[in-house]
Amino acid sequence: ENTDQNMNLVIAGHVDHGKSTIIGRLLADTDSLPKGKLADVKETCRRNSKPFEYAFLLDALKDEQDQGITIDSARVFFETDLRKYIILDAPGHIEFLKNMVTGAARAEAALLVIDADEGIQENSKRHCYMLSMLGIEQVSVLVNKMDLVDYDQDTFNQIVEDYTEFLEEIGMEADCFVPVSGLEGANIATLSDETPWYQGQTVLEVLDSFENQKLPEDKPFRMPVQDVYKFTRGGDDRRIVSGTIAAGQVSVGDEVVFYPSGKRSTVKSIEGFNRAKTDTIGPGFATGFTLDEQIFIKRGELATLADETEPEVTSRIKTNLFWLGKAPLSKNKEYQIKLGTAKVSARLEKIERVIDASNLSQSQEKDQVERHDVAQCVFKLNKAIAFDLATQFEKTSRFVVVDDYEIAGGGLVEEAIEDKQSWV
Ligand code: GDP
Repeated sequence: ENTDQNMNLVIAGHVDHGKSTIIGRLLADTDSLPKGKLADVKETCRRNSKPFEYAFLLDALKDEQDQGITIDSARVFFETDLRKYIILDAPGHIEFLKNMVTGAARAEAALLVIDADEGIQENSKRHCYMLSMLGIEQVSVLVNKMDLVDYDQDTFNQIVEDYTEFLEEIGMEADCFVPVSGLEGANIATLSDETPWYQGQTVLEVLDSFENQKLPEDKPFRMPVQDVYKFTRGGDDRRIVSGTIAAGQVSVGDEVVFYPSGKRSTVKSIEGFNRAKTDTIGPGFATGFTLDEQIFIKRGELATLADETEPEVTSRIKTNLFWLGKAPLSKNKEYQIKLGTAKVSARLEKIERVIDASNLSQSQEKDQVERHDVAQCVFKLNKAIAFDLATQFEKTSRFVVVDDYEIAGGGLVEEAIEDKQSWV
């Protein structure tokens, strides 16, 4: 087991279903609170004659962070024997979504909280849909407030059945379902006597069984070109092509092809930044390489290997996206699309369908995409870009839409549509 990696976690679900309470429990049950914090908060509640709530722990920590007392600001974390968990904001928040679509924050796994008494609600569905579009594949469902339904197994089973059906519709699968009570601490750190019919994992065990996501080494080599630096060595003009490897590996002597230009050359040396010199480098590393021949390539191209699968190259793409912009996505406006390091102008050409993520109802007739909608639509780009399809490799398929300098949407490319002319 890898113990030196943190895990970024999302806790999602409908409002009031118990997210903060469960986070408070996790903090308390893993002894991750600052010393005396639990007693402090309990004492404050007693003095104000209000009942203690685990959700208050979260508020108390946030207050502390606001005052700059805690170093690790704005993020809540707790620690198990295995690793440290960092809780990112809940996906209902627009800022969180923006961070996720831009890759500024990367969550690897999610807990989705559903109130056993109230049942599956709009956001129980919407959030999970978004998680799936954001590429978060490890999701476990906590059926919370089991105390309110007398820890009834049938109620739990019904939610499992209904929610599994919904997940199937969006092509997802939950790792597991856990009946819990955040209030009473049932099945969070230890299995509860109240649910003798449940012999599965506790929430902490579920968390520790999530896997840190590794970038694939066995995929074709992909490196979006970040920059090309010029330098002189031994009187020769040289260039280093730099970027972060998204997938695969590259070695000295490999023939690389850059797309969309199609230019090719051979890797002469691999320049590690702050790293020992190497002949082969794999995914996740910021790196640079020099080439045998001086070819002119630019930021925005995708570096690949000549003997591996080619990427898609086109200027018309069918996408699946969700829209966050205040102004709807419409046809009479120019947007920017950023994919990898490429940035191009884009126009919405066609809306194939708009999906309401909360109930999966579809509509074909819409002429614009409203905030929070998920849509399948076609964009025409002002020039060709190189990418992979979502079904092939998601990381080089993910893009964001910029509207007036603001991230307004994000999604994945589903289909490369052949296109010979650019619109200008
Ligand atoms: P959030 O909006 O999802 O963060 O929900 P909170 O954690 O703030 O909880 C909303 C309300 O539900 C609070 O009054 C909690 O005390 C209550 N609650 C949370 N978990 C449980 C539970 O397991 N059982 C019961 N009975 N109430 C709970």
